Amino acid sequence: MRVMFIYLFEGTNYEHPKLCRTGVLNNPNITVHFNTEAVDVVGNTKGQMSGIQLRRIDTGEEKVLEVKGLFYGIGHTPNSQLLQGQIELDSSGYILVDEGTAKTSVDGVFAAGDVQDHEWRQAVTAAGSGCIAALSVERYLVSNDLLVEFHQPVREEKKKEIEGKDVEMGFDITHTKHKGQYALRKLYHGSPRLILVLYTSPTCGPCRTLKPILNKVIDEYDEYVHFVEIDIEEDPEIAEAAGIMGTPCVQFFKNKEMIRTFSGVKMKKEYREFIESNK
Ligand SMILES: Cc1cc2nc3c(=O)[nH]c(=O)nc-3n(C[C@H](O)[C@H](O)[C@H](O)COP(=O)(O)OP(=O)(O)OC[C@H]3O[C@@H](n4cnc5c(N)ncnc54)[C@H](O)[C@@H]3O)c2cc1C
Repeated sequence: MRVMFIYLFEGTNYEHPKLCRTGVLNNPNITVHFNTEAVDVVGNTKGQMSGIQLRRIDTGEEKVLEVKGLFYGIGHTPNSQLLQGQIELDSSGYILVDEGTAKTSVDGVFAAGDVQDHEWRQAVTAAGSGCIAALSVERYLVSNDLLVEFHQPVREEKKKEIEGKDVEMGFDITHTKHKGQYALRKLYHGSPRLILVLYTSPTCGPCRTLKPILNKVIDEYDEYVHFVEIDIEEDPEIAEAAGIMGTPCVQFFKNKEMIRTFSGVKMKKEYREFIESNK
């Protein structure tokens, strides 16, 4: 099979040292196309590659070379120009590090990967040096008293012993979605999460529209909120205590306080925005 190996040389020197050194010019299996650039890859009707469109740089003449494979030699120049004059580089542009470390010439700046590796340039060596650099950064921050730790907010209730009554009522505080006034009372007194209460009634059409909307929003904020559905016909006293005049109605509670009421059906993003800023 004929393949094309594209390698870009600087200039058009027929006696380029790399070509001479490697014996490429004398290899009968290799044709070197001087003064030529590849402008396109062409394919056949089956969607397979069938050739490379070449253009002579000196004459502009174009032709298709029939080949079935293509390899790019992408060169060896590190993309480190932006560091020029800021960090010590070697003559080829590789970042200089102290041997066996990720330390550069600038205190607190560490280098990893191919850009500082003149010799091996392999995925695994790059990854290893990345690890050295990351740990070096951590040590640097600690030793200079610059480390700031961020922790996830504590938002998950500890699984408490399930009380007999909870079992009877089918209530589990670690779940996100609940139904009925028993769950609401338990969560109101026992959960640090934002609580979204949806008041519905069996004959309410808009409630059927709103439920899937809220379910989707709640799924996005699972573990940050509790969702409780109250059927005002089954739990009239709690609806009355909450001042519910019609359904659907949504109330948000946090830290034993009612913080917002949404009457009727709203756009998903309104609930989302409210949860986002109060979770
Ligand atoms: C064709 C080919 C085949 C290879 N095959 C193998 C193999 O089989 N096994 C193996 O172990 N290794 C192989 N390697 C080498 C391996 O890919 C590299 O050693 C490895 O990817 C180096 O990782 P790196 O993170 O240092 O650099 P890169 O993977 O090159 O990542 C550098 C990243 O920095 C980005 N970047 C560059 N400049 C800037 C800038 N100014 N601003 C923002 N971003 C920038 C680049 O876009 C790139 O995403 C191969 C390499 C090539 C080219």
